[in-house]
Amino acid sequence: MATEHNIGIVIHGGAGTIKRDQLSAAQEQSIRTDLQAALDAGYAVLAAGGDSTQAIIAAIQLMEDSPHFNAGKGAVYTKPGKHELDASIMRGSDLEAGAVAGVSFTKNPILAAEQVMLHSPHVMLAGTGADTFSKAKGLAQVTNDYFDTEARFKAWQEVDAKTKAKQQEQAAAKDVLDAEFKFGTVGAVAVDQNGDLAAGTSTGGMTYKAWGRIGDSPVIGAGTYADNRSCGISATGHGEFFIRYAVAHDICARVRYQNVSLQQAADAVIMGELKKVGGSGGIIGMDPAGQPVMVFNTPGMYRGYKTPQQSVVAIYDDED
Ligand code: ASP
Repeated sequence: MATEHNIGIVIHGGAGTIKRDQLSAAQEQSIRTDLQAALDAGYAVLAAGGDSTQAIIAAIQLMEDSPHFNAGKGAVYTKPGKHELDASIMRGSDLEAGAVAGVSFTKNPILAAEQVMLHSPHVMLAGTGADTFSKAKGLAQVTNDYFDTEARFKAWQEVDAKTKAKQQEQAAAKDVLDAEFKFGTVGAVAVDQNGDLAAGTSTGGMTYKAWGRIGDSPVIGAGTYADNRSCGISATGHGEFFIRYAVAHDICARVRYQNVSLQQAADAVIMGELKKVGGSGGIIGMDPAGQPVMVFNTPGMYRGYKTPQQSVVAIYDDED
C-alpha cells in the first residue's frame, strides 16, 4: 500500500556570501526568473506523472544552461584558468547512483552522471574518461571556453591578483578560497507520484581550485544522497568540509536511525556540526512525504520549492 505523500521538488543555485548590496535589481530579477523556470520545469515532469529522476534532471539542466550559476555555462575557473565540472545523481528507490568528476567538454554534466548511473557498471567516472564516455553516449560536447563568462573571469582575476600579491602561495590560496567563497552550485531533490526520491548536484567547483581538485558535489554521500527510507539531499558549500563530514549521508542516516525529522537532522548537521568548524554552506532536502527543507549557515542561498500547495523562490537569509 502506498504511503501518503505529495509530489514536490526543491532546488538550490548555491549558498555563500550573497548580500543585497552585491546584486543589482536586474540581476536579482533574472536569477529569480531562472530559479522559477527550473522549478516549473521539474514540477511539470512530476505533475505529468513523470519520475523524480527526470524531474531533477529537467531542473538542473536549465540551471546548467543559465550563466547565473556555477554549473555548466557560468562555471568558475580553476587556478590554471580552465573549467572542470562535477556532477552526481542518485535514486532513492534502489540506491543506484552515477557521477562524473573533472569533465571539461561535456555541456551538461548532470546528463553524463545519469548515463553513468544507467549504462555503466561504475558509480563515478573522472576526467578524460568521463568526457569520452559522455561523447560515446551521444551527449553534446563543447570546447572548454563555452563555459566562460565575464563575471566568473573577473572573480578568477581578483583571486589571482590577491594570491600573487602574497608570498606564501599555498597559505594564501587557502585563505582566498575561504574568503572569496561565493555561490553558484546547483542541485535538486524531488519525490514523484510513486513516492520515489531522487537527488542531483552539478558544479564548476570553487574559484581558483587546483587542477584536478574534486569537491563534494560528485561524491555520493557528501554532496548528494537519496534513500526512500529517509530523504534526498543536495548540498552546496565548501566541499572539503562536506566530504569530511559526509554531510548528505549523515543527514539521511540521522533521519533513519535517530527518529528525528529531516529539518532537525539538517539543522543539527549544517547549523551545528559544520558551523562549529567553519564549514560554510547549506543543503536542500525532501522527505518521502514531499516535505521540503532548505538549511544554510551562509548569508544566503539561491533556493526554491514547489509542491501542490506552494511555490517559493528565495535568495537571502531573511526570506521565507
Ligand atoms: N560544493 C562545491 C565544491 O566544493 C562548491 C559550491 O557548492 O559552491 O566544489
